[in-house]
Amino acid sequence: MRVLVTGGAGYIGSLAVWRLLALGHTVSVVDNLANGSLAAVQSAEDLAGRAADFVQADIRDTDLLIRLLRDVQPQAVLHFAGLKSVAESVALPLRYYDHNVQGSLSLLRAMQETAVRRIIFSSSATVYGQAARAPFAETSPIEPVNPYGRSKWMVEMMLRDFCAADPAFSAVALRYFNPVGAHPSGRLGEWVAGAPNNLLPYIIGVVQERFERVRIFGDDYPTPDGSGVRDYIHVLDLVEGHCAALQVGPGFSVYNLGTGIGYSVHEVIRAMQVACERAIPHEVVERRSGDVAISIADPARARHDLGWQAQYDLMAMCRDAWRFAEQHPNGYGRVAAGAS
Ligand code: NAD
Ligand code: UDP
Repeated sequence: MRVLVTGGAGYIGSLAVWRLLALGHTVSVVDNLANGSLAAVQSAEDLAGRAADFVQADIRDTDLLIRLLRDVQPQAVLHFAGLKSVAESVALPLRYYDHNVQGSLSLLRAMQETAVRRIIFSSSATVYGQAARAPFAETSPIEPVNPYGRSKWMVEMMLRDFCAADPAFSAVALRYFNPVGAHPSGRLGEWVAGAPNNLLPYIIGVVQERFERVRIFGDDYPTPDGSGVRDYIHVLDLVEGHCAALQVGPGFSVYNLGTGIGYSVHEVIRAMQVACERAIPHEVVERRSGDVAISIADPARARHDLGWQAQYDLMAMCRDAWRFAEQHPNGYGRVAAGAS
């Protein structure tokens, strides 16, 4: 297939680029590099032994996208481009509606103009919010509690409406649970500049002595050890979910991508201690506002319809994430001596 990957220089997108290239697909990437790196695309190409086309551009530029889609004529678009910080979305909501909603609208307009009729969209389990009870099925109540989650929900609704108006159009929204991990080579993964909001990048920052200790946000949740429970999913499993979703027929579909297994903050810290073979300082602090106690996927629909099931456990996620971090102490800007 010819596939256009928006946001292909980012964390999850670059792993998708690697996998698509490795499977023999022809890949074009569009990314404005706001939070991505050309080095990630380069690593994806090196690992796959094949090249992708790269265009540095913003998906809100509809005219440019139309030219690009005419040129590439992809059979599918994997749409990762967007902003992803919940905290930033609360402080800068218009920025999130602009990049995530307006950006997706621009992409859909360009796809309509050029008759490209298949999109796979990166949605998020944050759309479930406080109203649902874990495990979350796709039919669970939707109630995003922040602008980031609402931007994802708005795009899902846009895709649903667009599919209803064009029966030949196929849109798949994949609701990711908590993506972590890296390519097992340690060459592709996630690096967050500054203080990360997410648990695993923060733990890694503590191991690297960029931060003093992990703050555990609350130990009085109704969970076995009182800390928050999440469904962490290896990014390799996530990427396989996208490959499976490329086969979905016309219409709008939505799938959870999670393992169905939850781990507490304490369990993640313990697994990371084993992976990096050192003690990780931590302390319990106040709950973080807006957090749910438990977020776990019911992955049955993806298993049934896509034949997809997560393969990797928490240890693999921690080992691979740590390998990438060790090789990239400052992200893609500087690679540690001895790392390939
Ligand atoms: P990322 O920030 O690493 O990658 C996103 C990429 O999109 C970056 O390379 C960035 O430069 C690019 N981008 C952003 N705005 C753009 C624009 N207007 N035009 C062109 N390029 C633009 O993020 P990620 O973790 O790889 O996430 C990918 C997608 O998955 C995002 O849409 C995110 O919301 C979604 N998602 C991520 C998580 C997670 O925890 N990582 C969870 C659920 C959903
Ligand atoms: N968490 C924590 N300390 C941190 C970051 C996160 O205790 O520095 C907890 C958080 O309260 C939640 C879990 O770890 O229970 C996962 O948080 P993350 O932000 O990674 O994902 P999300 O809450 O968006 O699912």
